[in-house]
Amino acid sequence: MEKRAPEGGRRPPAQASDVPLDAHLHTELSPDSAVPLELYCAQAAERGVREIAITDHLDFMPGAPAYAYASYQRRERDVRAAAERWAGRVTIRFGVELTYESRYEDAIREHLRTHSYDYSIGSVHAMSDGPYDRSRAASFVAGKSLAEATAPYFAEVAAAIQSGLFDTIGHLDMIKRYLIRWWPAADYAAIPEVYEPLLVALVESGAALEVNASGLRHPTGEMYPGPWVVARFRELGGRRVTVGSDSHLPSCFAFGIEEACEIVAAAGFDRLTLQRAVDRGDLVLPERFRR
Ligand SMILES: [Zn+2]
Ligand SMILES: [Zn+2]
Repeated sequence: MEKRAPEGGRRPPAQASDVPLDAHLHTELSPDSAVPLELYCAQAAERGVREIAITDHLDFMPGAPAYAYASYQRRERDVRAAAERWAGRVTIRFGVELTYESRYEDAIREHLRTHSYDYSIGSVHAMSDGPYDRSRAASFVAGKSLAEATAPYFAEVAAAIQSGLFDTIGHLDMIKRYLIRWWPAADYAAIPEVYEPLLVALVESGAALEVNASGLRHPTGEMYPGPWVVARFRELGGRRVTVGSDSHLPSCFAFGIEEACEIVAAAGFDRLTLQRAVDRGDLVLPERFRR
């Protein structure tokens, strides 16, 4: 049976084709993905995704899943080798998604000082000893407002921005996913005062805002962050945005990137960025997104 388009005639989100970038991908060198790197490269070539960033996880809390999962040497060797194999067809960047925790900021800084990447994402995740772990979340949110319940998450996001360490801040409000049992994503539009200082700090820091499409695959049902946040970032003077599927499965490569580009374009951006402070003319959004 043919899939019917949802109301308004819009197609459901799918894997994108003919887009400039998917800057957030996990391979088998992440503990929560089994996708061979080569499979992303082949899909990128097939679909006309001209540039991809491989951003496997790196955690700093001893015992966390990506604390000592794949060595830097192995990750670098594999991604650089793929970049050479696919040169001229797909541009492949050696990136990393570092779990940001303020208590490990010194270790993160030291890692980035002594290891070379093309691209770094700093992301706040729910840690096993933090308030959003499944064992603790219900008792943590009990009696709290949304602003109160999200405060520890966003305090860490603010610290990640302030650190100045990253090219981009990953999934700015993935807290929506952790708290979905209590608050739907739409509720966050009622706490703009929580986002405002983060966006101002992001503009001042020069790091990019990532529009992370994985929320379309989660019960959250919207990007991290949602369209109104991207629009507000632009209004506040934001100049740098990037897009990523945050894929952990072959079928999630470039998933939702069409929608992410639409949100970026609607906010007033005509191009994407990758590395901090590198202005490139070749990540311009295709004609169909232009306003
Ligand atoms: Zn993440
Ligand atoms: Zn990720």
